[in-house]
Amino acid sequence: MLAYKDIQYALKKSDRKTTSIFIERDGTVSVIAPEPYDMEKVERVLEAKRSWIYRHIAEWDDLNRTRVVREFVSGEGFPYLGSSYRLKIEENKRHDLRLKSGVFVMSSSVLPDARTAFVEFYRSKAKERIPKRVCQYAKQMGLTPTEVRIHDLKNRWASCSPGGALNFHWRCMMAPLTALDYIIVHELAHIEQPNHTAKFWDLIEKVLPEYQQPKGWLRLHGAGLGL
Ligand SMILES: [Zn+2]
Repeated sequence: MLAYKDIQYALKKSDRKTTSIFIERDGTVSVIAPEPYDMEKVERVLEAKRSWIYRHIAEWDDLNRTRVVREFVSGEGFPYLGSSYRLKIEENKRHDLRLKSGVFVMSSSVLPDARTAFVEFYRSKAKERIPKRVCQYAKQMGLTPTEVRIHDLKNRWASCSPGGALNFHWRCMMAPLTALDYIIVHELAHIEQPNHTAKFWDLIEKVLPEYQQPKGWLRLHGAGLGL
């Protein structure tokens, strides 16, 4: 990977004489240029396209910008569907962790693996809820995902494979329902439109006319959702 200012990019050989920029679906920036590489020209093109690049790579990239560190102690707040719930650690509980009457109650016996217990909580909630919502929106949009999986996708909320399998990060369950729906509709739209073209956004707008609101919410608050 090369870097120009704060943009990390890969340099790839072009058969044509022009130098162009390409942003992969995962946010990786590639510069396609003819050999021998003219680095001054490459950097000129990067500079000219900087704000365009930022807009495109910002999409699902906010998760790692400012990592939150949550402590697994009584009183700490943990997000679930857009609300924050306090953790209470109690001795000898039958359940490792559960959300009951607005409080996360964790058994002190699982404290050494507290993070795993939370990941499991979000993962099981995601498995309960996300496939159902995907199904509803898929019907509405006339699309057929081949599979719905819950994963740890690192710094991405979700992804869509070329074959139409959708993957969602368990962290999606920390976001408000409107944001979760936006993530779902966004990935579904990728089955039909792989890139973020005007057609892609039209597809989303038809189902979620107010999609700018959750999209903006994720950009502002996405980084705060983590363990
Ligand atoms: Zn996308």
